[in-house]
Amino acid sequence: MVHKDARAACDSGQMLDAKPVTMLRGVGPRSAGKLHQLGIQTIQDVLFHLPYRYQDRTRITPIGSVRPGDHVVIDAHVDHAQIRFGRRRSLLVQVSDGSGSLLLRYFHFTGSQKSGFVRGARIRCFGEVRRGPASFEIVHPEYRLLDEGVEPGVEESLTPIYHSTEGLQQKTWIDLTNKALVFLRQGCLLREWLDASVSPKIRMPLAEAVALLHRPPPDLSLAVFEQGEHPAQQRLVFEELLAHQLSLRKLREQHKQQPAFAISRDDGLERRLLDRLPFELTGAQRRVIADIEKDMSQPNPMQRLVQGDVGSGKTIVAALVALHAIGSGFQVAVMAPTELLAEQHLKNFRQWLEPLEIPVLWLAGRHKGRARAKRLEQIADGTARLIVGTHALFQEDVAFDKLGLIIVDEQHRFGVHQRLALRRKGASGNILPHQLIMTATPIPRTLAMTAYADLDLSVIDELPPGRTPVRTVVVSQSRRDEIIERVRSACREGRQAYWVCTLIEESEALQAQAAEETARLLQENLQELGVALVHGRMKAQEKEAVMAAFKAGEIDLLVSTTVIEVGVDVPNASLMIIENPERLGLAQLHQLRGRVGRGSIESHCVLLYHAPLGQQARQRLEVMRETTDGFLIARKDLEIRGPGEVLGTRQTGEMQFRIADLVRDGRLLAEVQRAAEKVLRDRSQAVEPLIQRWIGEREQYGGV
Ligand code: ADP
Ligand code: MG
Repeated sequence: MVHKDARAACDSGQMLDAKPVTMLRGVGPRSAGKLHQLGIQTIQDVLFHLPYRYQDRTRITPIGSVRPGDHVVIDAHVDHAQIRFGRRRSLLVQVSDGSGSLLLRYFHFTGSQKSGFVRGARIRCFGEVRRGPASFEIVHPEYRLLDEGVEPGVEESLTPIYHSTEGLQQKTWIDLTNKALVFLRQGCLLREWLDASVSPKIRMPLAEAVALLHRPPPDLSLAVFEQGEHPAQQRLVFEELLAHQLSLRKLREQHKQQPAFAISRDDGLERRLLDRLPFELTGAQRRVIADIEKDMSQPNPMQRLVQGDVGSGKTIVAALVALHAIGSGFQVAVMAPTELLAEQHLKNFRQWLEPLEIPVLWLAGRHKGRARAKRLEQIADGTARLIVGTHALFQEDVAFDKLGLIIVDEQHRFGVHQRLALRRKGASGNILPHQLIMTATPIPRTLAMTAYADLDLSVIDELPPGRTPVRTVVVSQSRRDEIIERVRSACREGRQAYWVCTLIEESEALQAQAAEETARLLQENLQELGVALVHGRMKAQEKEAVMAAFKAGEIDLLVSTTVIEVGVDVPNASLMIIENPERLGLAQLHQLRGRVGRGSIESHCVLLYHAPLGQQARQRLEVMRETTDGFLIARKDLEIRGPGEVLGTRQTGEMQFRIADLVRDGRLLAEVQRAAEKVLRDRSQAVEPLIQRWIGEREQYGGV
């Protein structure tokens, strides 16, 4: 029947991006409304609602061979069922199949469900195996009771799982995609915008790839899919990553069309600061400053990311370009992620700008009442030329006189949308400020170009001369006492040290507890030293008080969790111990280690690992021992752990893909970028439809 309907509706050769979902049988105005909310308008859209994972229900697994984490179909008999009254009432059903037994656990159940589980009843169920308190168990399995002698089959192929939002069940998706697939089989078409000349990954015809992912053939194993290796997956993943890349680039082009102040006057302020500096700029600093000033001279807003390793001298770059804007009559806002960092910037900027008679103003959350009102007035009437602060700078009541440039430090953690919102807030009428984002997290270029394709990129790839690199040693916990002695002697010589505790536990409470315990033990061992503690559970003010005391030299040894502030500058701290470094990513270790080696004395970092180390962990710590080059470390991190880990969940979480997975598919990125260039150059008519197909309405969140 369905066939006939489809044939009636679709002549071979027609395009599915022109067929509304209401052409699918059973989709009336009400379901269509729901689908529209998900951005699904056409039959093509239904087909691109692809399964995001699969279940293997193609065979029955003997209980004796299940492992935790497996999703399995089990065919067994009920031994007994009982209701357990504990913290949470639950129904426990013990089942066995001759090879072993396990427990089914239900928290929600009805009386008739319970009475169905009689001893000896035959049950077929599916679910994920977990390790329970006494035996393996499955929580809330799907199940049905079977009559004896009946042999129901298993699924022939992998079961697709769809994102089921807004009251649309799996069943509905199966049904919808079934009907849409009929159109494909009848010869309706999905437009091919790409071919093998764009990339060798584009080989399988689109329709074939789509059909295969919705209804995998029987011989296809779950493992192949999970590795992302199937040509059908590669075909579609590639196209999705490409669409994503094109969309970000388009967004960037659109930003560039907005109006901004062209800033190009040079009234010698920069020269005057340069003349006063006790050092020469590095070549890399000069090059990056030139990039920035060229951007600012345009009547369209700059959106530039400056990457520079810890200590590469980003702050002076910021100060010089700020002077450029100030000298042309504009205000500059400098934003840091924490008050402590903002205060540090304040100190630097004051030291550089005040001799040039440029008023620098500090706006903090703690400025309240009249103090705040007065500051707001100075920002609004233009008395304040450079304003330093945290997010507080962009609160409702802050109005700038003529903001030309926003500098955001260490905030690569911002997403695309936040970056744009920030810029809007600083706008004068419809004229936007330029934006400069500075980050110390070196990200390999291919990855940066995916995560930050909406930004232009400059890299400070050279450190100022005369730095002594931090010497790193890798030491087992069994030599902990030795290390404690090392802390003692460093502090005796007037140096300071960090002791960083890591814990896998998600919970900050547990982390804090562990750090507290470590601090207590260290204080016991090092009675003559001042030991203090910072962790994420402390109030911001308490944390800052401790950091300030450490900076002032009142504390010898600072014990902390990994919350320890990025960018905190205590040049006298020359020793860092990192416990269980094998638990952290290389980028994070590099950031932590960057807290030492900021003075003229040689600094040391001790990576105090827990034996035995796995092969990968050993390899990673080796990288840390061998180099202090953040970019090299980032490249290794990418090789060893993949892009999801390197970017962190914040960034990857923001990029929502249908089937691509940055961790699994990261190796395609370089090729995707080349393909994007080609498409933009040779087949620009494909850009819009590809974005529409894969991103559709979601693109609007780009918020131009
Ligand atoms: P980061 O890039 O980590 O923010 P900073 O801007 O804090 O680095 O710079 C680190 C230190 O290096 C500061 O004390 C700064 O004054 C100094 N510095 C910056 N540029 C140079 C240079 N070209 N030569 C020598 N020292 C420099
Ligand atoms: Mg800095």
